[in-house]
Amino acid sequence: MADRHMLAINTIHAMGGEDLGHFIGGASVAGAGPSFEVIAPATGDVLGHARDATLDEVNAAVAAAKAAFPAWAATPANERRKILNRVADLIVARAEEIAAVECLDAGQCWRFMSKAAIRGAENFRFFADRAPAAADGQSLPTADHVNFTTRNPIGPVAVITPWNTPFMLSTWKIAPALAAGCTVVHKPAEWSPYSARLLVEIAAEAGLPAGVFNAVNGLGETTGKALTEHPDIKAIAFVGESSTGSAIMRQGAATLKRVHFELGGKNPVIVFDDADLEAAADAAIFMIYSLNGQRCTSSSRMLVQRSIYDNFVEKVAERVRNLKVGDPFDPATEVGPLVHQRHFDKVASYSAIALEDGARIAAGGYPVGGKGFFFQPTLFADAEQTMRIAQEEIFGPVLTAIAFDDEADAITKANDVQYGLAGYVWTSDVGRALRVSDALEVGMVWVNSENVRHLPTPFGGTKASGIGRDGGDWSFDFYMETKNIALARGTHQVPRMGV
Ligand code: NAD
Repeated sequence: MADRHMLAINTIHAMGGEDLGHFIGGASVAGAGPSFEVIAPATGDVLGHARDATLDEVNAAVAAAKAAFPAWAATPANERRKILNRVADLIVARAEEIAAVECLDAGQCWRFMSKAAIRGAENFRFFADRAPAAADGQSLPTADHVNFTTRNPIGPVAVITPWNTPFMLSTWKIAPALAAGCTVVHKPAEWSPYSARLLVEIAAEAGLPAGVFNAVNGLGETTGKALTEHPDIKAIAFVGESSTGSAIMRQGAATLKRVHFELGGKNPVIVFDDADLEAAADAAIFMIYSLNGQRCTSSSRMLVQRSIYDNFVEKVAERVRNLKVGDPFDPATEVGPLVHQRHFDKVASYSAIALEDGARIAAGGYPVGGKGFFFQPTLFADAEQTMRIAQEEIFGPVLTAIAFDDEADAITKANDVQYGLAGYVWTSDVGRALRVSDALEVGMVWVNSENVRHLPTPFGGTKASGIGRDGGDWSFDFYMETKNIALARGTHQVPRMGV
């Protein structure tokens, strides 16, 4: 444990984390903008500082991405494949360091981060191996023309990411962009900037040409805004809050940016009385309390059929009281701290809101106390859909239980939120599983399962949860322009005018 903590400290020190600048055109750049503190969530201590990129620095990063674009887009896809596979190899080689940095910087638990780093490598490998097929199109012939489509990389793109699982999420966006032949300027979240620096350095070491992948640090309203308004950025891949997505859409409107948004969620896990209740409880607990509850696909609303409601809620409450909260570096820890004092204050405020609105606190509901931003895993019970705890994304280890009467009531309640990212259905009735899945207004449904990601499948949300899909060919479609080419067979008569 102490060794891994030391490893994270040393890794951050080696990247210049006391005063972290940017990575532009293949080289480290000391930032000239104001610096901000980076805090360790488990202690509240200052880990180091990072610089808010100036407009000149954002312009330099975009200029580097623009200059590198023609050569990278023209690089044979097989060569791109090799380089990106080397990135994956180096991620694996440094997986322990990456996981340790995530634990220290983002407060995520070791038991999950050691796997998340490896998943980052898998993301690179998956898209690397698909690079040779990225430009493939379709043949759509008619009697007089042969139509065929081609795809070309759209140009330099901006990738803007949040702090919840910073490394893994970044790879998910950056790997397909690079595989498609785009160049990238990445802006990681200001509360967890360090693993992004590791990624850009690893990519350079793997042989990615200078300028193909750049990283700038900074705040959303300054660096992020400048990036999204830049005329040479052709598309924005954004993961974060729904309100930030709206702001980015406005910022990018003047330059007609293509946007891909993965936003917030208030995802229902629906438990019918005929379900495997042991497995349903396991999944509901895992999906909300792992990753410290800071997970976009968390099952933050537990809808339980009234006939089993009391027993099931008590069963879950017992387990929630039993969760092991503590040092994220301890492999036994199940729930770590929230990422930042500001986020902690937001999450903590919901206990009073729950009671005021008439819900019951069945477990937790209070700060752990001592150093760091730890909040006791919490279960709000007997809630109604109208309550704020049933409507708002809390994004912490906080679950809201709501009773429902029948299939129709479950569907109505599940859909009665502004969000529409994921839904989880637990039942042994196949027909009902299909009917409910069809009716849910979400981008993804898991039946009798927690969120198990399969990279070729589409990932994304509806309503206020997002625009667009990631995964498989959906990712390439976003980062590429499709062109149709129609070749006449010489069999048709061109209309004649002014003869
Ligand atoms: P956030 O929206 O506050 O910030 C995300 C990123 O956007 C940060 O890098 C931030 O600096 C930047 N940003 C903020 N304002 C900006 C602006 N005006 N212009 C450009 N960039 C700006 O989100 P967060 O608090 O870091 O992350 C938590 C949110 O992310 C939650 O809502 C969560 O549900 C969501 N999330 C969604 C998914 C998904 O796949 N749907 C995955 C993970 C997280």
